[in-house]
Amino acid sequence: MRVALVELTGRRRMFRAPLWMPVYISSVASSLREDRHQVTIVDHGACEELCQWDEAATSRRMAEIIAAFEADAVLCDVRYLSWPVFQGLARAIKDSMPGVVLMAGGRHPTVAPVDSLRNCPELDAALVGEPEPAMRMFASGTPLTNITAFAARAAGGFPGRRDMPVEDMDTLPFPAWDLLDMDHYTRKTPRVIPCLRLKTAAVETSRGCTAGCRFCAEGRLAAGRHRWHSASYVADEIEQLIKDYAIEGVYFSDESFLANRERVAVLCDEFIRRGLGKRVVWTAQVRTDSVDPEILAAMKRAGCVQLEFGVESGSQRVLDSLLKGSTVEANMAAVRMTREAGIRSMTYTMRGIPDETLEDFRATAEFIRQARPDIVRMTEYVPLPGTVLIRRLVSSGRLTGDYWSGTGTSTTHASKQPLNLTAMDTREYRREAKRIYFRHVFPRFARDFLRHNPPWSIPRVFRMKALFAFLWRKIFA
Ligand code: SF4
Repeated sequence: MRVALVELTGRRRMFRAPLWMPVYISSVASSLREDRHQVTIVDHGACEELCQWDEAATSRRMAEIIAAFEADAVLCDVRYLSWPVFQGLARAIKDSMPGVVLMAGGRHPTVAPVDSLRNCPELDAALVGEPEPAMRMFASGTPLTNITAFAARAAGGFPGRRDMPVEDMDTLPFPAWDLLDMDHYTRKTPRVIPCLRLKTAAVETSRGCTAGCRFCAEGRLAAGRHRWHSASYVADEIEQLIKDYAIEGVYFSDESFLANRERVAVLCDEFIRRGLGKRVVWTAQVRTDSVDPEILAAMKRAGCVQLEFGVESGSQRVLDSLLKGSTVEANMAAVRMTREAGIRSMTYTMRGIPDETLEDFRATAEFIRQARPDIVRMTEYVPLPGTVLIRRLVSSGRLTGDYWSGTGTSTTHASKQPLNLTAMDTREYRREAKRIYFRHVFPRFARDFLRHNPPWSIPRVFRMKALFAFLWRKIFA
């Protein structure tokens, strides 16, 4: 079978070009290739030719590429914010190839398979959860309706579906890096491991998160279970990336890298034994309640230079309302321990959380001031489909049920939407957001960036025009 795999993560516009290797699509590609199917990857974000401002023209060009490959089937990785982009692409694909089997997988179809089919008449099936076992069955000739991981239109009424998670992660072949634009993904940049200018590759060592934060549905992608590769598999993969692409850094793309402390200890031992910690540095996302001085010391010896924590808020009331399962004190202690271990810390915080008060917002600013993480990311809360929080917002009438079903919720639109779910009035909220950004977030980023990147390298890192546009938006939005 000839299968086209489409990555829709983002666009290569200005400095927003995605630099995280698309692990989902490249892993499906290598699994299908192992079964001797013909596979191609059409990468929206990394392809210069597809870097158009005109979305319809981009979709038509992508459809032409897929048609030229003579694909029998197409699978798109669709994240939440790229759903409207996918709808346009689906129309273009079916216009030029009415007979092709069009499937969508990834985050959005996983949490909303029935809605995905309803809101996109061109879609033949929504793939729920991990893609490799289901795609292998489909490519070998099993009808979509007989594969439990698909919600297939042909089955009528969109019947129930069941995930098909990979039981033994080591049975997966390494991702098909050769089908990606690796010059793009492994170019020296300070954007993958923030502020450190390195050739960095993304590597997945485990899947799943068993925490149940109300604003997040990441665990659903991996059937709510945590599974991992063996230490030797991960070390072999990194050695292969060093050999083929001379990488200097690794971004572990796991949702919760330290969910199993023992397996990370074994992984660190393997890195140290093979001398990998001296050849590459790495970073990972971890929960604050999973770090302690002993494991941090082992990670430091194994090459860890930075840890990313989802702190979300500096207000205990907000953390409890999100069911984050952590405390402000534990978050503070995790940043301090990480600093003492000689590892940089980066904290993710959210603003615009439902019912957030001015006091909660200021508590987050105070947390940043006291904890002193090296880098802070503060992003606007977006109600994501499949989460407990969006269900509550819809049932209480604060959000319409079709929030994600129509058009107009692409990345840019979502952030520009005048959505204020906080307990503050919109003017007060925007004013405070600006104040916190310029007082606590931007200075930390600028200081850390200049520490690791000489001023004369800045024009190479950012296109200056884009940087000014970004700052303009921050100041006047
Ligand atoms: S926010 Fe992080 S810890 Fe919470 S469920 Fe999502 S991935 Fe897991």
